[in-house]
Amino acid sequence: AYCISPGEKEHCNIGTIGHVDHGKTTLTAAITKILSENSTDTKFYDFNSIDRSPEEQRRGITIYATHVSYQTKKRHYAHTDCPGHLDFIKNMITGTSQMDGAILVVAANDGTMPQTREHLLLARQLGLQRVVVFLNKADIVDDEILELVEIEVRELLAEYGFDADSTPVICGSAKNALEDIDCKFGAPSILKLAEAVDNYIEVPNRDLAAPFYLPVESSVSVPGRGTVLVGTLKQGTIKKGSEAQLLGYDVKIKTAASEVQIFRKPVNEGKAGENMGVLVKGVKNDIVKRGMALVAPGSFKVTNWVEAQIYILTRDEGGRSKPIMDGYSQDMFVSTWTMGGMLFLKDDVQMIMPGDTTKVNILLRKSMVIKEGQKFTVRENDVTVISGIITDVLD
Ligand code: GDP
Ligand code: MG
Repeated sequence: AYCISPGEKEHCNIGTIGHVDHGKTTLTAAITKILSENSTDTKFYDFNSIDRSPEEQRRGITIYATHVSYQTKKRHYAHTDCPGHLDFIKNMITGTSQMDGAILVVAANDGTMPQTREHLLLARQLGLQRVVVFLNKADIVDDEILELVEIEVRELLAEYGFDADSTPVICGSAKNALEDIDCKFGAPSILKLAEAVDNYIEVPNRDLAAPFYLPVESSVSVPGRGTVLVGTLKQGTIKKGSEAQLLGYDVKIKTAASEVQIFRKPVNEGKAGENMGVLVKGVKNDIVKRGMALVAPGSFKVTNWVEAQIYILTRDEGGRSKPIMDGYSQDMFVSTWTMGGMLFLKDDVQMIMPGDTTKVNILLRKSMVIKEGQKFTVRENDVTVISGIITDVLD
């Protein structure tokens, strides 16, 4: 059994990113193993309980991600590991796990690979400020290789706008740590990594006093009890028993939070930054949709008309080669939801070119809870072509 007392320690959301087979899942297991040996607050999750083989999964809108939790002396972490590259991409752009920082795993025998780049680029586009690098598989390469790969990684970090000099790079072996092999690349490297994450990754100032706002990621029906909404609380504090509204897709429902659960344990309140399940009264599961928001009553409005600052990615950045015209329509990925939107250019502008930054108005198909400062992306055929930020919520 493990116990989490989120109120006492700072909470941080983190995840493993990097190329397939570089050891993300092995490292996730190793972190829980080594931290569980150093404190009773953490439970060991073995590899198989984290990894779910991608072949068995039907690819669709479903996102496969495993959340594990662990604690250091300083913090309580929720850690996301995605089995496949596609899951990672979807997870990031739909904001399923709102990561404060990431552990970039690079296998030292391979060096940086295409998905290493893509994940870093996406992390950057979505506003992640800091990563910690774990050079994995140090058990099977010479020290000179470790040095070369470290240089390569720092160059890549700089290329994508991260502070390459201050980013901690830890050499180690998740496999050695997991197999109890006693060497500097085993347990000591994992402890060094945990310390680097504690010190380097920053958690945002979470506004606990603001009205609560929970974007719904998924929901489950609990027979005999009701519907549980699952998501990461963006702001405020949600207390057991609080009155609430469920908003989005032109729907407005009055309800209450009958129960709040964190890592499946009932708690008296959930705070901003925490991933939680909220049992809501009188809400049928079949009307709940991913992307709705559970909010404090009367504090949020819904709209389908917003102003945004957008950036069109160039071909070199993996974006478009053609300009975007007035009336451009495409799916927008905002927080936990995806919806068709139409762009209206301002001031008689006829088109915007790749590489341009400009303000536009956007008309959405349905009314949603959208906040100023909310980031979003537009993708065409799985490629990010626009990244944007909501600058005004219009009526
Ligand atoms: P992921 O796709 O990034 O999650 O990678 P996995 O964690 O599934 O690991 C891929 C393969 O690399 C597996 O066969 C692991 O056993 C192996 N592996 C992971 N970490 C290490 C390591 O530190 N050293 C060695 N030699 N192999 C490792
Ligand atoms: Mg994996």
